[in-house]
Formats: sequence, C-alpha cells, structure tokens
Amino acid sequence: MHLNTSLEPKVQPLTPELPTRITIASGDGIGREIMDATLSLLDAAGAQLEYEEIEIGKEVYLKGNSSGISPEAWEVLRRNSAFLKGPITTPQGGGYKSLNVTIRKAMGLYANVRPCQAYTPYVDSNFPEMDLVVVRENEEDLYAGIEHQQTTEVVQCLKLVSRPGCERIVRYAFEYARAYGRHKVTCMTKDNIMKHTDGLFHKVFDEVAQEYPDIQSEHYIIDIGAALLAARPEQFDVIVTLNLYGDIISDITAQVAGSVGLGGSANIGDTIAMFEAIHGSAPDIAGKGIANPSGLIHAACMMLTHVGQPRVAERVLNALLRTLEDGIHTADLYNEAYTRFRASTQEFTQAVIERLGQEPRKLKPAVLGDNAQPIEIKVKPYLAASKQLVGVDVFLDWSAGQRDPNELGQALERIAGKNLKLKMITNRGVKVYPNGFPETFCTDHWRCRFVSVDSRVKPLGNGMAITAPVSYDEVVALLQRLANEGLNFIKTENLYEINGERAYSLGQGE
Ligand code: ATP
Repeated sequence: MHLNTSLEPKVQPLTPELPTRITIASGDGIGREIMDATLSLLDAAGAQLEYEEIEIGKEVYLKGNSSGISPEAWEVLRRNSAFLKGPITTPQGGGYKSLNVTIRKAMGLYANVRPCQAYTPYVDSNFPEMDLVVVRENEEDLYAGIEHQQTTEVVQCLKLVSRPGCERIVRYAFEYARAYGRHKVTCMTKDNIMKHTDGLFHKVFDEVAQEYPDIQSEHYIIDIGAALLAARPEQFDVIVTLNLYGDIISDITAQVAGSVGLGGSANIGDTIAMFEAIHGSAPDIAGKGIANPSGLIHAACMMLTHVGQPRVAERVLNALLRTLEDGIHTADLYNEAYTRFRASTQEFTQAVIERLGQEPRKLKPAVLGDNAQPIEIKVKPYLAASKQLVGVDVFLDWSAGQRDPNELGQALERIAGKNLKLKMITNRGVKVYPNGFPETFCTDHWRCRFVSVDSRVKPLGNGMAITAPVSYDEVVALLQRLANEGLNFIKTENLYEINGERAYSLGQGE
C-alpha cells in the first residue's frame, strides 16, 4: 500500500506554465474518434499538455497480455502523473483480466470520483437540480479479491477495510468538497450490520468530519441512502462510501441523472491518476463518426483540474454546456424539442471549439474557483495498538450423520482442553449450539468459538473487565487435537481484544 504519510515528490511537477506530460490511450471501439475530438478541443482551449501514447485494449489482450497492457506501456504510465484513457473492450472468455482493476490496484488509485449532473431539458432527467459527486473507495472492501471455497457447500469472500484506507478516502472527499466549492459530505455504510468493517469507515468519517467544520456532514445507512438517491438526488452533494456500495450507487446516480453518455470519472492515486468516460467502447457505432465525445471531454476536464489547469477546464466545460444548449447534439442526444442540428463527432467538437470563451445561458455555468487545486492527502502516522489473544474461532467442514449441532458440540466440549472451552457454534452466523433452534438450516460449514476457561471476567477495579489471555501454543494444540479426532478444520480466526475492547463480532444469538 502506498501511504503518503510524508509529502512524496511528484513524478512530475504540476506547474501550469510548463506543459504537463500525460499518458493517453485511445482504447477500442469509438475510442480513437472521441480521443481525437477531445485532444483537438484541449489544444484549442490552450491546455498546456504533452502526450505520450500507449496501446491498450483488445489487440493487446489478443497478443497474449492477459491484462490488456504491455510491459513497456507500464513504464510510460509510471513516469507521467496523469493518464487519459479511452474505453476498452475486454474479450470474452480466455481468462482476461479487467484492465481497469489491474491499473487501479497496481498504481494505488484509491479514489474513484464520479461527478453526476442533470442537463435538463437538453438531456432527459426527472431531477433537473441534481448535481452530486460520488467518491468511492477503490482498493479495499470485497474487491480485495480474496475468495475461497471452503466446503462442498460454502464459499467466502473476505471484506478487508483498513483505517488508513478509510482515512485517505474520507479526507479526499472533504478536501474535494473544499476544492470544488461543495458544502456537504454524506457518508453511506451498512454499519448497523457490519459493525467492525463498515463501523470503522463510519467512525473515521466522524473523526475526520470534525476537522472540516466548514463542510456539513451526515451519515445514511446505504439502503436508505440509495433509495433517497433514486427518489431525491438533489439533496446530495458529495457522497463518500466503500468500494462495493460506491460501484452500485455511482451507476444509480448516472442513470437517474440521465447522463451516462456524458459522464467522466477519475481514479486518483498519490502519484498517478487515471481519467476516463463512464460509457463503454460502443462497438456498434465505432468508425461511423457519430460518437459523442462529451464523456471523455468531462474526464479530460477533471484531469486538467487535477494537473493544475482549472481555468482551461472551466473554459472547455462552459463551451460544452453552451453547445448542448444551442441544440447541437450528437445522435445519442437527439430529441425533437431541443436538437437543432444533428452533429457528427467532428461537427460537435468544432461547435464546442467555436464556443470557447462563452458560458451557458440556462444551464449552471461551471465555476472552478481558486481552490480547485490538485488534492494531496496525508494520513495520520501508524499507531501500534495493544493486542491480546483471548480465544479462537475454528471453522470446520462437517457433514456427519444428520448434521446435529448438539452432536458436534458435545464432541468439541471433550476436545476443547484445559484452558479453552467451547463457547458456541454458529452456522452461517446463527448460533446453533448450545441451545440452538432445530428449525435453523445448517450447512456443512461450522464456526466453533473457543475462549479461555476462566471465562474472561477479570475485574480491573474500574468497573471494566478483561478477558484472560490465551497462548498461540494452546491454539495450535487445539488444532492438533481436532485433527487427531478427524475433524476437518478449514480456517481459524483469532479473537483479540485491541486496546481493551472486543475486536470481533458476536454470533447472532450469542
Ligand atoms: P461496456 O460493457 O463496455 O460498458 P456496453 O455495450 O454495455 O459496453 P456502451 O459501450 O457504453 O456499453 O454502449 C451502450 C450503448 O450506448 C450502445 O448502444 C452505444 O452505442 C451507446 N453509446 C455508448 N457510448 C456512446 C457515445 N460516446 N456516443 C454515442 N453512443 C454511445
């Protein structure tokens, strides 16, 4: 993980007077058409950029690079601070990996930023006032990609959430709000259920929010939050959330705004950032010269701000809005009431270029104030916690006889040993021993919780109690006894108290 605890030197200084060298790749399908259009617009608007082009996508996959990018292209990517990426087509089958996921992970692009705005009446949406930004954590959560099949019946996916990971994305959201003149940051989690993982995200959000008294902060449980997003998206400004929820709600917001074809997205890391349109490679219209370049243009404007050229971004955005208002639309935006001229990609781009320096008259003009600076995030230094082993959850693959939890429980009571006792058994999180309900459906996957015998109540004299420690040797000996009895353990999770607090969840019914 690349934690920027000190200010690391940038790959390239972000000096607006000097051209910033960026990496570009057209990608597949309509990629070349919309990239050419975007670059000609940036040049006309006076962007101080130099380009280094790499090849990515279908052809590269088919040449045998399973991630769609060649080793030489990585070198180019790593030496430039920004990457403007066209859409790509991942070939079906054949074990091809998503290029986006590979780049995000390899380059430490921790923040996915997706502004989402309605452009009514020129683009249909029920929510004309909608104008929000989703800031999605990009590296952790269920996307760590750690999955296992553990028994015949059960598979698992690990949800990993780290304090620095939460802090970095939450700080990014608040810094973004300041930089872009936004007033509120809404956090969305499911911490009523996932008290430790989502709970950490929410806790860090509350801590960081205190450092930004000028920005309003609030929290919603993700299900209610998503429902409100679909029903009243105007009430949101910046939303920060974990990886999976962010993936889902950024698609909801783009659909609700009606602007999937116009949206851009940024993936931000400490030293490198990647910018792209949110639409795909649209192979059905590739080569016809009719693609709408607005998504990539929006992405390019995010990039310009990121590399310290917000004024140019503002010029481009306002010219784009004015073009929409003037009824010059590519075919995908055609509507009888507002389209005056159905433009090709080139004609549309030319129309935007002609409007550089103008502002929209009805749509809200883009204003990127002096605060719209490149955002750098520092997280707090590592503080080691005091950690005490107080027990172990042993997961068993067990399907003997009628799968009676009492039979398993009694066997484990005998095996538990001197300093450990069996506290409970759960099946898919629900307590089934002791005193389970016969109605609970049991799979072949059992979580057996062992804790130290004197049942952990050691008064500290201040009303608090601590659990007596367990040694690692005792855990290993327990596993050995289980193996001797032919019980098939599939994994263990140690139970800790961290800084004196229980650092694991209770079983349902425990
Ligand atoms: P992917 O899996 O890559 O997202 P997809 O086919 O699901 O591919 P898109 O490639 O975004 O999604 O295409 C969806 C539809 O929108 C297609 O009919 C396509 O022609 C159209 N489309 C997408 N992008 C544009 C664009 N920039 N201009 C015009 N039409 C577009």
